[in-house]
Amino acid sequence: MRIWSLTVVGLGLWMLGVSSPGMAAPTVEVAQGGVGYWPGEGCTRCYLYGRSWDAIEGSCFFPVDMDRRPDSYEIARSCGGSLEKGWMVVTEKACVQEDIEFPDTRYVELSAEDLARHHQEQAGIKPIYRRRDTETHFTLPLAKPAEPLPASDNFGACRTFNGKPKNRHTGADYAISGTARAVAPGTVVIADEHFFAGKSVYLDHGNGLISMVFHLAEISVEIGQEVDTGAALGQIGSTGRSTGVHLHLGTRWHRERIDPAVLLASPSELPQVTE
Ligand SMILES: [Zn+2]
Repeated sequence: MRIWSLTVVGLGLWMLGVSSPGMAAPTVEVAQGGVGYWPGEGCTRCYLYGRSWDAIEGSCFFPVDMDRRPDSYEIARSCGGSLEKGWMVVTEKACVQEDIEFPDTRYVELSAEDLARHHQEQAGIKPIYRRRDTETHFTLPLAKPAEPLPASDNFGACRTFNGKPKNRHTGADYAISGTARAVAPGTVVIADEHFFAGKSVYLDHGNGLISMVFHLAEISVEIGQEVDTGAALGQIGSTGRSTGVHLHLGTRWHRERIDPAVLLASPSELPQVTE
């Protein structure tokens, strides 16, 4: 539940020229794992979570992590030298429950060695999400990571493995084999085999957007390589913690874990800021 500031505080903010919810301010409601869209012309910079990033073709996009606390967050954009402010209301999205039986208990009851390996891999991945202010190399919607792409509904799933609750699912799984492809132009920033993700490729598309494909059978790109949309990244497989051949696609935007489906659909389907 959200509790708005007392009237007197609200008035104080009003006098400072800051809008607060309830007043007529530009507002957008976004579910966890989604992206808010503030279409514009000539806007250059977008502000959220105490951070900022470049607008894309004049418009601002505000990604919301799948675990972002439901609340109101101030958003802003700079357009033609003036700063416009608004609010993004984050709403809760219930997780789908997935109970997975995993015959190889190595991936459920981790040995000290495997746990140490996992932590080391995570420490290597983290700085990738924090890369900022690189040029924007992509447009929305993103291209499909494989064709024909089947439906997926397990982004953010709450999971148990052999009855034990595990971390939520951070991407979308697609039951498909064949070639995994780049969803946009980018640079290969990780091409490696990880404990849980198996053979993985991470692409940096600039402006804080990272896409990743997991569980590949073979990787066909190298770290540092620049790829175009649709470039083959590798053969879809079942390496790492996987129960069968499938493609796992993950997207992080300004560090927030986003449902890839949101970025694969037209931006016109995103929740839009209304004035
Ligand atoms: Zn997955």
